[in-house]
Amino acid sequence: MKIDFTKASFKDFENIKDFSVQQRADVHYEFLQYMKKSGHLNYRLLGNSGCGPLIDIQNVDGTGSREYVSLVSNDYLGFTQHPKVKATSIAAIEQYGTGAGASPLIGGYYSYHKELEDMLCRFFDREPGSAIIYNTGYTANSSSLMSLLQKEDIAIVDMAVHASVYEGIQLTNTKRFLHNNLEDLERILKMVQPQYRTKLIIIDGIYSQDGDMAKLPEIYALARQYGALIMVDDAHGIGVIGEAGKGVLQHFDMKDKVDFITGTFSKTFANIGGFVISNPNISSFLQYQSRQNAFSATSSPAVAGVTTAIRLLEEEPEWQAKLWENINHLKSGLVDLGFDVGTTQSAIVPVKIGDPHMTSEVGKILLDQGIYTNPILYPAVSKKDARIRMSVMATHTKEQLDKVLEGFEFSDKKLHIAKIKYKN
Ligand code: PMP
Repeated sequence: MKIDFTKASFKDFENIKDFSVQQRADVHYEFLQYMKKSGHLNYRLLGNSGCGPLIDIQNVDGTGSREYVSLVSNDYLGFTQHPKVKATSIAAIEQYGTGAGASPLIGGYYSYHKELEDMLCRFFDREPGSAIIYNTGYTANSSSLMSLLQKEDIAIVDMAVHASVYEGIQLTNTKRFLHNNLEDLERILKMVQPQYRTKLIIIDGIYSQDGDMAKLPEIYALARQYGALIMVDDAHGIGVIGEAGKGVLQHFDMKDKVDFITGTFSKTFANIGGFVISNPNISSFLQYQSRQNAFSATSSPAVAGVTTAIRLLEEEPEWQAKLWENINHLKSGLVDLGFDVGTTQSAIVPVKIGDPHMTSEVGKILLDQGIYTNPILYPAVSKKDARIRMSVMATHTKEQLDKVLEGFEFSDKKLHIAKIKYKN
């Protein structure tokens, strides 16, 4: 079987009929070399500096490095570099060492984990014992869902939910509804009414590719009408949306309404890990039944930095304010240049281009200009919906964002990618 590299996407290499794993890896490697030659392989670029608005990246050919304006980090408030956050992680390592040494169920559950879980309960106004932490946001979704939903149940998911949700619902029944589409959701809820034991609607607070917000109040009303539970993954809402960055649930004043809140420590909370908030009995069920908590060692003491990041949301609201100044500056600049930024309501700013090849070209031109963005192609988005995706940080300067705007203006001069041309 011959794959046409000019039209291929990573999806085409997932499984190839009659190819052994080695043959698949070999043809995949050839594809990577093809992309590298065309200058479109801007994945796994090697950063020499830490997370931040500027990043030093190793040249692809291995010769030296260069500084870029970075739009690829979800460290929205810049807390990975905040001295108080760092100090808390360092102090916890001094006190507890560098690792937890066991899964939480059998010896790896420490006071710094408990303190973090208690803080998360307070952050979401839930009773003590309602939170459980995981090693990543990915496994908070995938590992919890795998034990929550079985073959008698059904997951009803917005088609744009994160990959980790899809992984978690493989053992149960599933229905997908069109993104944020209430009619389609209701159609499915009516259809599945009597059959299933537990019906769980799963949505994101902010969607990771378009940056738009879930229609939570309407979805909640439908869930109650048809006897379904709701899980909201607010990975991209926390720190960005709502008073003191308490996320989409705070924005809609619905913190006490949804059945499950999940999220990550890898974005605003500037660390690694994730969480599930529900109620104390479900949390303790997950402590024993969710396989990660039994079979995988838990977070290292460095995770204690999250407690300071949570405190800073209230103590230093200026970061959230600065983030919004930056989001508005970049968004309005792009719109003025005629670009289509879609329906974003968050720190995720997509520039919709459509054609995958053209999108990769824009990514390359921007890199040449010293601007690091993510070209997002199929299968992450549909084939006709390729875009450049950027994440804005509170610590970007206006000059850095202006450089990004100039980069897009330059790309448009070369490739004519802006959708709306203003005449004056
Ligand atoms: N949920 C959403 C909506 C995400 O965008 C991501 C990661 N980008 C995750 C979960 C996974 O989080 P983590 O990086 O902590 O695994």
